[in-house]
Amino acid sequence: MWPPVLVFLVGLAIGSFLNVVIARLPEGRSLLGPRSACPGCGAPIAWHDNLPILSFVSLRGRCRACAMRISWRYPIVEALTAALFVLAYRIFGPTVDFLAALVLLAALVAITAIDLQHQIIPDVITLPGIVAGFLANLASGRVSWLDSLIGIGVGGGLFLIIILASGGGMGGGDMKLGAMLGAFLGWSVVLVAVFVAVLLGGALAIPLLVTGKRGRKDPIPFGPFLALGGVVGLFWGERLAQWYVSGFAG
Ligand SMILES: [Zn+2]
Repeated sequence: MWPPVLVFLVGLAIGSFLNVVIARLPEGRSLLGPRSACPGCGAPIAWHDNLPILSFVSLRGRCRACAMRISWRYPIVEALTAALFVLAYRIFGPTVDFLAALVLLAALVAITAIDLQHQIIPDVITLPGIVAGFLANLASGRVSWLDSLIGIGVGGGLFLIIILASGGGMGGGDMKLGAMLGAFLGWSVVLVAVFVAVLLGGALAIPLLVTGKRGRKDPIPFGPFLALGGVVGLFWGERLAQWYVSGFAG
C-alpha cells in the first residue's frame, strides 16, 4: 500500500481510539471495556457501525437503534488525527522522529477535545507525555537531552510565572502541557509554540471580550491554543525559531 494511505488509515484507527479516550477518561471509565454503546439508549455499537467516518456518514450521524444524534466530534477527531499523521509523514518520513510526532499529535488531539468539553487537561496524558517526549528525543537525538530537559523547565516555568502573576486564569494543566511540549520540542521551539498560542488565543479572545460574548471572568480554555501552537512548533518550529533569531541578529 502507498505509505501515505497506510498512514492515513492508521490515523483514522488511532483517531477512533482517541474518541474513546475523550469520552471515557474525564469520567474515569476504563479505556479497555466494555464495548462502545450509544449514550442515549445503551445499545451496543456493532463493529460495522463503528468504522471511522464511514459509519457516521452511512448512519447520517444518528444511532441505528434510537436515532439520537451522534456528536460531530467523532468524525472530526478521526479526520483530524488522520490528516495530522499524513502531514507528519510528509515532513519526517519513515523515521523515529515520525513515531515521536505521532505520539505527540495523538496526545494533543485528545487534550484539545477534553479541554474544550470539560475545561481540564488530564495529568494522565501530560505527565507520561513529559517522560515520553524526553525518551523519544533521547532515542532519536532530534532534540538533545539537555535541550529537552531545559524545554521542560521553560515550558512549565513560563506558565508557573503566569499562574503566580495572574492569581488564577491559567491552570496547572496548562503548565504541565507546556512542560510536555518542552520535552518534545526543546526550549527554543516551545517558546515558538507558546508565542503562537498566545497570538491565536488573543486573536480569538479579544473579539469575544469586546463584543461582550464572553466576560473577563469567563474561562476560555487555553489548552486548545497551546496544542495548536505545539503542532505548529512540531512541524515548522525550527524554521520559525531561526527566522526569529536571524530577525534580531540581522
Ligand atoms: Zn441509541
